Amino acid sequence: MKENLNPLITLTQNTTNNPFKIAQSQFDEAAEILGLEPAMRELLRWPQREYSFTVPVRMDDGSSKVFRAYRVQYSDARGPGKGGIRWHPEETVDTVRALAAWMTWKTAVVDIPLGGAKGGIVCNPKALSEGEKERLARGWMRVMARELGFDRDVPAPDVYTTPQIMAWMMDEYETIVGHSHPAVITGKPLPLGGSQGRNDATARGGVLCVGYAAKKLDIDPNTTYAVQGFGNAGQYAALLHPQLLGGGKLVAVSDTSGAIYCKDGLDPEKLVKHKLKHGQVASFPGAEQIDPETILETDAEIIYPAALENVITRQNADKIKAKIICELANGPTTPHADTILHDRGIHVIPDFLANAGGVTVSYFEQVQGQMNYFWPLEEIHRKLDYHMSHAYDAVFAMHRDQDVHMRMAAYLVSVSRVAEAVKLRGWVG
Ligand code: NAD
Repeated sequence: MKENLNPLITLTQNTTNNPFKIAQSQFDEAAEILGLEPAMRELLRWPQREYSFTVPVRMDDGSSKVFRAYRVQYSDARGPGKGGIRWHPEETVDTVRALAAWMTWKTAVVDIPLGGAKGGIVCNPKALSEGEKERLARGWMRVMARELGFDRDVPAPDVYTTPQIMAWMMDEYETIVGHSHPAVITGKPLPLGGSQGRNDATARGGVLCVGYAAKKLDIDPNTTYAVQGFGNAGQYAALLHPQLLGGGKLVAVSDTSGAIYCKDGLDPEKLVKHKLKHGQVASFPGAEQIDPETILETDAEIIYPAALENVITRQNADKIKAKIICELANGPTTPHADTILHDRGIHVIPDFLANAGGVTVSYFEQVQGQMNYFWPLEEIHRKLDYHMSHAYDAVFAMHRDQDVHMRMAAYLVSVSRVAEAVKLRGWVG
């Protein structure tokens, strides 16, 4: 393991599953293959800037509560920072750092002129009222407003944050700066400068990648698939797989309530309606309950991890039966598991390629907001397909040319693009 040479940054979790250590080790491997010089490696393996702060919130019962919050601006070499804000009770600064690094590689792999950033608030949104959420969102923005903007850093939704939360944040920002500024944040509701096609963009990009992969690997995508996590990314993946790929049978789904299986297929539309009505999938009628730990090991040919990080590990990588894994979640696979999957010939579409549709349409939203001119849905879909297919082709070509697995191929494409920008700016090298 590399020594921590950066005296300003203390890693909070020293476990092998620390997501930032994983992000750094993946970067180190890419840097080694690319032969990057030492100063470039040192620059790109750490965040450029990070903010760690508290947000005091008046609760509905009159008491006050203080929340820990973060924003990590990993790199702006290729353009302004971009990345979501997560609200999660187990959020840590290292998770935010890892996600900010992955945003940097993600915007580079789809070749949009942005850098990478990420934010988080340690909180349990399920225990907050709408009023408390609004005050928390506005409080976060009051601290961060000076460091954000379409030419600095543009946040977006992520785990447990919503278009409504983006709307409150945009409103707070505009109140502070005193003028309209819709491009400061993306993932906004449509009447407030949101983009057509943003809601399903992450899943759409992933499902499109499954289609490109199936073509290259000569696999029929009209087959069985399973989805872990049934939020924004998971629900749309379940719905879009058959729509975009000419068919498919959803056999297993999970969320925090449990996991369900049906060998004859679950109806994605009915399941989404059930989830919206009951807030869970476990009670879906006619389905068999299975151990949520085994959802990724079901007999589905294509699996979509769409929940949290570190769910494919050395403990279960051997048991996975799928031919294609489309990583809609960030960081679902540990490096050990990656090697096992590669050796077993399982085609992994790595997170920062598979889920790049979200940031691509976020970028479209930012551009449209700056122009104050909005495109129709068909144009968004056409432009998204263009960026995703070029990104997938570049990564697949690197995977074949360099004989490395798809994640490393994606790193090689992205890191070389970011390093080139750093060099052109004259920062190092
Ligand atoms: P979300 O909050 O809408 O949904 C998360 C879902 O995961 C919920 O259904 C929750 O019940 C489920 N979940 C949580 N823990 C679980 C567990 N242990 N087992 C099974 N299910 C579990 O979040 P989302 O926006 O769909 O994001 C999901 C993943 O996709 C995250 O890793 C996120 O970083 C990534 N992602 C999302 C976007 C986007 O645009 N939404 C973009 C890029 C990446």
